[in-house]
Amino acid sequence: MIMGALQALDKQYIAGTYARFPVELIEGKGSLLRDADGKEYIDMGSGIGVTAFGIADTQWQNAVIAQLGKLQHTSNLYYTEPCAKLAELLCQKTGMSKVFFGNSGAEANECAIKVARKYAAEKKGAEYSTIVTLKNSFHGRTLTTLAATGQEHYHELFQPLTPGFVHVTAGDLDELRQVISTHKVAGILMECIQGEGGVLVVDGDYIRGVAELCRQQDILLMIDEVQTGNGRTGKLYAYMHYGITPDVVTTAKGLGGGLPIGACLMSEKVQHVLGFGDHGSTYGGNPIASAGACSVISRIDDALLAEVSEKGRFLHDFFAGAPGVKSVSGLGLMVGIETEKPAAEVVKACMERGVLCLTAKSKVRLLPALNIPMEQLKKAAEIILECCK
Ligand SMILES: *Cc1c(COP(=O)(O)O)cnc(C)c1O
Repeated sequence: MIMGALQALDKQYIAGTYARFPVELIEGKGSLLRDADGKEYIDMGSGIGVTAFGIADTQWQNAVIAQLGKLQHTSNLYYTEPCAKLAELLCQKTGMSKVFFGNSGAEANECAIKVARKYAAEKKGAEYSTIVTLKNSFHGRTLTTLAATGQEHYHELFQPLTPGFVHVTAGDLDELRQVISTHKVAGILMECIQGEGGVLVVDGDYIRGVAELCRQQDILLMIDEVQTGNGRTGKLYAYMHYGITPDVVTTAKGLGGGLPIGACLMSEKVQHVLGFGDHGSTYGGNPIASAGACSVISRIDDALLAEVSEKGRFLHDFFAGAPGVKSVSGLGLMVGIETEKPAAEVVKACMERGVLCLTAKSKVRLLPALNIPMEQLKKAAEIILECCK
């Protein structure tokens, strides 16, 4: 298709919810992408933290293709091996007890919210329905996960949202104590690093304080690892940096390596909360997505995580204090760069010079593939820095 024609076709028929960049990507390998003009890009966004091992990664591709040749879908009326194996892997690596599979981050969070409400209703009474989340958080686009999302501007046009959500300020334990004493709280849902909110690292003492409050009051601690999960921050899940034990962990994005899958992990305490008929998904735990996810999760070992941490430190050291850079935030390969120029301008300049980056609020956000080769990472960092000046 000639350049321009695809963009016109897309604009005519695709709902106008996305402000796409004028780039038509057609193929890639690892952390390199190519557009319809044959121009090459270093991928520093990995499809918003999804292609964990890059584009067309051979191991991931082999796992997916092998499953594609056998069975693509059965519905959840029958047993299939890939989702059971994936659930086993996730539980073995986290100490959690059960997994519910959906197809996205929002669905994983919907499941978590249902778990919290049912657990509290049975344990304390149906009036214990409030879910506390953090201001500036992002939990998804369904009407319930929008209600959970602590950013008013997402809410305005879609009232009424699901009731029963209260947003508190990250770092302020007194405010949380106050909310717990004045509301009947079922659970707290939070990110350890607010991704869409601007790659803001939530204070570790606050996270541990929240965990302790939850434990004392039998309120479910639910950690949203949709963006921070699956090796992104240098641990399998970001909560593992803080020595806490969540009751529920949600994840998606990098889990599937590029195919849609979301997971809600439940600890021993809540493993039996959802019973027969309480929840479901036609596609959830789809064999192909699950086979790909098994390949992703089984490769996130200590050596890879050490590599992610090291590359993250490189990016921090490279950008911190550099000309045009105001500050650097994040952990591992989840990096936010506060730039002197508007972030959108930097991202546009990078794109012209063959580096694809993301923004998060007013920052440039980097979420490269976990296995991006060091020389590509360095080259991309140099170009990004030149675009910051
Ligand atoms: C992206 C994201 C979601 C939503 O995931 P979808 O797959 O788009 O539904 C939820 N929570 C966090 C922290 C995210 O980054």
